[in-house]
Amino acid sequence: MKRFLLLAAAMTLPGPASAAALSDAIHADMPQLMTLYRDLHAHPELSMQEIRTPALLAPMMRKLGFEVTEHVGKTGAVAVLKNGPGPVLLLRADMDALPVREATGLPYASTVIGKLRDGTPTPVMHACGHDTHLASFIGTARRLVAMKGQWSGTLIMILQSGEETGEGAKAMLDDGLYTRFPKPNTVFAFHDSAMLPAGVIGVTPGYTTANVDTVDILVRGVGGHGAVPQATKDPIVLASRIVLTLQTLISREKNPLDPAVVTVGSFQGGTKNNVIPDDVKLALTVRSYKPEVRKLLLDGIARIARGEAIAAGVPDDRMPVVTVREDQATPATANTEKLANHTLDLFRGHFGADRTTILPPLMVGEDVGRYWLNDPSVEGTLFWVGGVPRAKWDAVNGDTTKLPSLHSALWAPDAETVIATATEAMTIAALDVLKKGGA
Ligand SMILES: [Zn+2]
Ligand SMILES: [Zn+2]
Repeated sequence: MKRFLLLAAAMTLPGPASAAALSDAIHADMPQLMTLYRDLHAHPELSMQEIRTPALLAPMMRKLGFEVTEHVGKTGAVAVLKNGPGPVLLLRADMDALPVREATGLPYASTVIGKLRDGTPTPVMHACGHDTHLASFIGTARRLVAMKGQWSGTLIMILQSGEETGEGAKAMLDDGLYTRFPKPNTVFAFHDSAMLPAGVIGVTPGYTTANVDTVDILVRGVGGHGAVPQATKDPIVLASRIVLTLQTLISREKNPLDPAVVTVGSFQGGTKNNVIPDDVKLALTVRSYKPEVRKLLLDGIARIARGEAIAAGVPDDRMPVVTVREDQATPATANTEKLANHTLDLFRGHFGADRTTILPPLMVGEDVGRYWLNDPSVEGTLFWVGGVPRAKWDAVNGDTTKLPSLHSALWAPDAETVIATATEAMTIAALDVLKKGGA
């Protein structure tokens, strides 16, 4: 019996013949998927303001036979397809774009003007390539519906809001993603990559993206005349010391084998040459992987700010105010090792070793890890699909520092290759999890 089951399972794996059939089917879908992609690209929406995108995609999913619930986690949508007994698999695509003025010169470039939360108008662009994720989402749904006879289980496909602001995954989980809908055993997502040539897949077992923390420091002094420093406590000098001492968290306090970053991205204070201001505002981004390193950095920032203020003789009631913006924190995404390694082998077998690579972890943020964070009953993997057009890659010999990165106004991936590759990869990963007879 066991032997029979193994054989049955093996027969449903995409062998050379079915691999070609899958690739052909995706190829046939590409004109439609590219039309969808160009439309999405021309109509980007900012984080948590995704209205048109889910309204466009939800009916497509319903037409394919999914039961779709909209407005989950504000603007997210959950599409469920029950197809017999078996595991529950969740596939996620993120929908949001960025406040960037597109400079790609593409015929379908965005000219959309959106609004920041304070009402300020801003150009909007799919500069992170989430539009490729969305087109591939539909492509993958189409394939898995067409291949329904080859798998058994429950497929949940979610359109996530607000990835760029780190809010969307949390919003969907808080709104009952795992209680109102079946809870998954396995989660997959992909992201287009500016670090890989188009069509090459990268997987990182373990940490793949970082803890992202936003910290504000209000450095308070005692202002006065620029020519009478003895009557002041100069917050510009104090803030400068804080900025420099913060770097010793990285160089002296943490284990050198644990990667981390403390960047002071904004230093604002003062109005005039001869006035010592009352305060200075510092804005930091803090990156790490391990929770204990995150804690060391955040505790250290508070300690250093206070310690430097004491050293400068600032009065007790003017100590710095350090604010960790927990509402904007994104936890590190750690791909679960077993699933990530298995998926890597699966992709190597399907696409070949020259199209599959292990990618080093990045210090950027991705909130997809929240779907399996601290829950050993859920496995998850975020993989990367290279988007750098081949000619551009070859022209710089793969030195991506010479090319536009994600979030650049110039990021123009080879969308057709990203969408086709990601659809194929996501489909075989899904079939592998949901194959008949179980794993
Ligand atoms: Zn992004
Ligand atoms: Zn992104």
